Amino acid sequence: MVLEKYKQKRNFTSTPEPSGDVKVAAERAKKAAADGLFFCVQKHLASHLHYDFRLEYKGVLLSWAVPKGPSLDPKTKRLAMHVEDHPFEYGTFEGVIPSGYGAGIVMLWDQGTWTPQVDDVDAALKKGDLKFTLDGYKLKGSWVLVRTRGWGGSRGGGSSDAKTSWLLIKHRDDWAGAVDIAEFAPLSVKSEGDFADILAQDNPDIWRSNRPAEGGDTGKLFQSIITRALALKAEREGHAEGPAPRASAKAGAKRKTGSAKATPAPRAASTKKAPTATARAKRS
Ligand code: MN
Repeated sequence: MVLEKYKQKRNFTSTPEPSGDVKVAAERAKKAAADGLFFCVQKHLASHLHYDFRLEYKGVLLSWAVPKGPSLDPKTKRLAMHVEDHPFEYGTFEGVIPSGYGAGIVMLWDQGTWTPQVDDVDAALKKGDLKFTLDGYKLKGSWVLVRTRGWGGSRGGGSSDAKTSWLLIKHRDDWAGAVDIAEFAPLSVKSEGDFADILAQDNPDIWRSNRPAEGGDTGKLFQSIITRALALKAEREGHAEGPAPRASAKAGAKRKTGSAKATPAPRAASTKKAPTATARAKRS
């Protein structure tokens, strides 16, 4: 059944994530030919920070969890754990999952279209060697996903329920480079914010009190997620060149009971077009 695993893992009365309408999948499968196939990367601050790499195929999103995120350096192969297919509608989701599976903050880190560089995607998935190009804001050019012989690696390739390990590798082209894209362009392509901004927008109360709404394990997990989101913000603003970081955000990051109000991400920190410029500069 389409999206069975996805649905099994979630309680849609308590998560803002899309429930996955099979009709959408069927309609989308027809439209994709004209629109181009969608891809996205969602940066997910859960119990561990990771990047969810998703490629639209046959109306759903084939998904891999990439702990360190994509690298533009062809020498850096990034582990990508194949996980359950996600609904097409999930692709632009950004927000807070307050509890349950995947509890944490989801940021739409990149999106665009992808094109297979093989004639038969099913055969490529089964073989465990899928070459493709990406046309996103941050990720462009030629890439490959290769299934490894590591843990679970020998189990069925195209199957959506087998957790197998793959490697996500950039091919050498004009869009490759030594830039650490995750660090260079850390923000959302949807809201232009960071995790702390997304959290603040979703739930100003959590932000003001700097305390999770729930107690128990979920509360503890969220406390660590809030702390991590603030640390990432402080780290980024510490590195930022150009306009000085705003004092209020800094103060908020330092104070445990920060009264800092939610403020939008500094526009100057938006790096949507920067990788393009970098790649161009490199060529010229
Ligand atoms: Mn995830």
